[in-house]
Amino acid sequence: MITTINPYNGKELKQYEELTKKEIKVKLEKAQKAFESWQTKSYEHRAKHIKKVGDLVRKNKDQYAKLMTQEMGKPITQSRGELEKCAWLCDFYAEKAEGFLANEHVETEHFKSYVSYEPIGVVLAVMPWNYPFWQVFRFIVPALMAGNVGVLKHASSVMGCAELIDQIFQEAEFPEGCFQNLVIGSDKVNAIIENDIIKAVTLTGSKPAGAAVAGTAGEQIKKTVLELGGNNALVVFNDADVDDAVQKCVDARFQNTGQSCIAGKRLLLHEDIAEDFLEKFTKKVKELVSGDPADENTYIGVMAREDLAEELEELMNISIEKGAELHYGGARDKAYFAPTILTNVTPDMPVFKEETFGPLMAVTVFKTEEEAIKLVNQSKFGLGASLFSTDLKKMEQLAPQIKDGAVFINHKVASHPALPFGGTGISGFGRELSHFGIREFVNIKTVVIA
Ligand code: NDP
Repeated sequence: MITTINPYNGKELKQYEELTKKEIKVKLEKAQKAFESWQTKSYEHRAKHIKKVGDLVRKNKDQYAKLMTQEMGKPITQSRGELEKCAWLCDFYAEKAEGFLANEHVETEHFKSYVSYEPIGVVLAVMPWNYPFWQVFRFIVPALMAGNVGVLKHASSVMGCAELIDQIFQEAEFPEGCFQNLVIGSDKVNAIIENDIIKAVTLTGSKPAGAAVAGTAGEQIKKTVLELGGNNALVVFNDADVDDAVQKCVDARFQNTGQSCIAGKRLLLHEDIAEDFLEKFTKKVKELVSGDPADENTYIGVMAREDLAEELEELMNISIEKGAELHYGGARDKAYFAPTILTNVTPDMPVFKEETFGPLMAVTVFKTEEEAIKLVNQSKFGLGASLFSTDLKKMEQLAPQIKDGAVFINHKVASHPALPFGGTGISGFGRELSHFGIREFVNIKTVVIA
């Protein structure tokens, strides 16, 4: 049995019976059968169904948002925002997929040569709880538009959302087997990857989960895309528009109660503006409303699970022992973690080195541009960084010195359907979204006519 729990009140929500080996086999065979027909359908046909999904998400946003909020404590207004973004993604790929996957003619010495992008089959997605709809949509929408089909192993704590997404695709009249949720624990994933029907795997989550899944897929010579979190830096230079940067840094860190891979986790402040910035930043953080995630006014809910809040507390406490100063917050009550600011943070501290997946900002002051860039790159992660300055030309010159998958200037790092999303280092490999994302799970075929 998989049991879901409301992290706000600790109450059990529902129990889900895990699939047996036989039931998993039936579902995989159904997926393969669906693929054989789905791959032959036109882009227009696929787009019609995807658009229907988007329409359903818009129409039933309030109902779907409630479940998300109950299962993982996301403030209700942010749950609705996530659903709107899913609908946007449906519209985006419904319109763009055909162009992204059109044959590309290449001039060679041959009479004709071109590249075609063809679907590969059934793709497995292992997904996390932090954006229970968005993470799944980010995978399945382009996958279906490319002519693939998908099976999902969602995080156990959001199994209700997983079942709901399955129902939405049924309601949008996708042929049976095009998208199926598998009610299983993580111990069943290896055997599924080893099944010949599965052609590739995508995982969003922690490094250990990514390493386990990519290890098995590697042994089977099956492609993987991994999105394993980040430790993004927010760099505020001395010529930045401080008021603008303060608000953006608050959003960057405290969105989704801090549980976002692309959240800005390390705040690097130039010494000239550090005091002023910190004062204004702290004032804004104090104004963030904590409370019942179902309440319209709540901005900080609870963390998705109590053990995750405990882990964050441990990272904070060890850093304080090593010399960090608790500037604001620091309290925890079960899954609730108060918005927290640690100052005097140095690179040897866990809050600088590890991914703090909750509402805690680690602040470090720098003196020179070189020092700032060194600090940004002093991380095994490489998902993204934000630079705040009014000297846009200089910021563009600094961008190539940052090894991450994204650099945003005067903006928080954010995913956008039209832009590739993914990281370097232990943030993973491969890209999602844009034309890069839809081409991850296709056979890039060379065709030559002599
Ligand atoms: P996990 O990586 O454990 O969970 C993510 C998904 O992977 C879930 O579906 C989980 O299933 C599955 N999974 C876990 N272990 C394995 C395995 N060995 N084989 C196959 N599938 C597996 O994340 P946690 O929930 O434990 O969160 C821990 C940390 O991971 C966070 O604090 C954060 O640092 C990072 N994280 C990053 C995310 C991102 O967006 N990049 C999202 C979530 C977490 P099940 O739920 O059944 O265990």
